Amino acid sequence: MRLNKLTLSHYRNYTSVDLSFSENIHVFLGENAQGKTNLLESIYVLAMARSHRANSDKELIKWDEKVARLVGEVEKRQTSVLLEMAISNKGKMTKVNHIEQSRLSEYIGELNVVLFAPEDLYLIKGSPQVRRRFIDMELGQMNPVYLYHLSLYQKTLKQRNKYLKQLGLKKQAQTDEVYLDVLTEQLAQAGSEVIYYRYQFIQQLESWANQLHQKITNHKELLQIIYETSIPVTKEHAKNEIFQIFYEQLKKNQEKDLYKQNTSVGPHRDDLIFLVNQQNVQTYGSQGQQRTTALSVKLAEIELIHDLIGEYPILLLDDVMSELDDERQVHLLSSIENKVQTFITTTSLDHLSDKLTVHPDVFMVKQGVVERIS
Ligand code: ATP
Ligand code: MG
Repeated sequence: MRLNKLTLSHYRNYTSVDLSFSENIHVFLGENAQGKTNLLESIYVLAMARSHRANSDKELIKWDEKVARLVGEVEKRQTSVLLEMAISNKGKMTKVNHIEQSRLSEYIGELNVVLFAPEDLYLIKGSPQVRRRFIDMELGQMNPVYLYHLSLYQKTLKQRNKYLKQLGLKKQAQTDEVYLDVLTEQLAQAGSEVIYYRYQFIQQLESWANQLHQKITNHKELLQIIYETSIPVTKEHAKNEIFQIFYEQLKKNQEKDLYKQNTSVGPHRDDLIFLVNQQNVQTYGSQGQQRTTALSVKLAEIELIHDLIGEYPILLLDDVMSELDDERQVHLLSSIENKVQTFITTTSLDHLSDKLTVHPDVFMVKQGVVERIS
């Protein structure tokens, strides 16, 4: 898969940009605060319909402007797909080949990207919420069915928590619990789908990430990724069994939930544990081990997407080369060169060029203007 063209208008610090790309490695070169990350972010937004770093879509619109527009021409399976997005204060409008998409879950997945940025270290070091978001974003772009179940789960969870609060406030009689039962069953239904897909995903991710991690560390380190869920299920359980177990757990915890006015078990409490040589890398890993773990996970995503759709996604590398030692940089580049269309931001070309076998397409970014220089 590759992005052949990118057009932006009133996106972040860009008034208007029109760029064409090859299947090569592309470098966005420039000093700090010129718009390099903004450019990578725009490709990410075009793929995922949300930014990896903005709190709200409004931030993406150029100051004093009303609408940001993004257009991308994607080539996959020998056909061309036109993606369009308009972001305004009222929301987002997306089109695929000129046809408006009413649901984002139908839009996401047309363009597949994997982004590796300095913040990815938080995947290891950050809170469980960061890891759940990672699962949701990555699994979501590969599997729209997952997104559907996830949004149903989140909606039902909100309703159930709201109702628990109402019951708690009113301290009403048992009759009220009939509706709670309905919500509990709906929650178990959607939640069991979420857990099922997460299990499958994490197993596949672990398999690839470990292979890549061993390569990077010259077989010195073994990487395991453990899916930690608040429900006693295993990967051997079928969907209907997961439903039963989750439902029973919800019923078992109902008294507690009523008291706390909150749902205490479910995939909204899930987490991932990364073990390197059997030790939790979040607690015991060195900075370098944590970085390598994050990198292995990102490279694994590339392979996973390839397994699933038969095409490599686009890789976006924001400021990461300088964070890796020479050996890891070489390994990273050798695993993507001539295979994955890549966009790299950097403030300097030093060290980068001599590690590549093919000369990259270099673009100079200066105060929101992008110019191809080689
Ligand atoms: P660095 O090398 O420091 O990472 P960069 O080239 O990646 O720099 P960007 O993060 O892309 O820089 O940001 C460039 C500039 O964009 C920032 O100085 C910021 O003020 C500006 N900017 C961010 N959002 C908007 C917006 N909505 N409208 C106009 N300008 C914006
Ligand atoms: Mg930047």
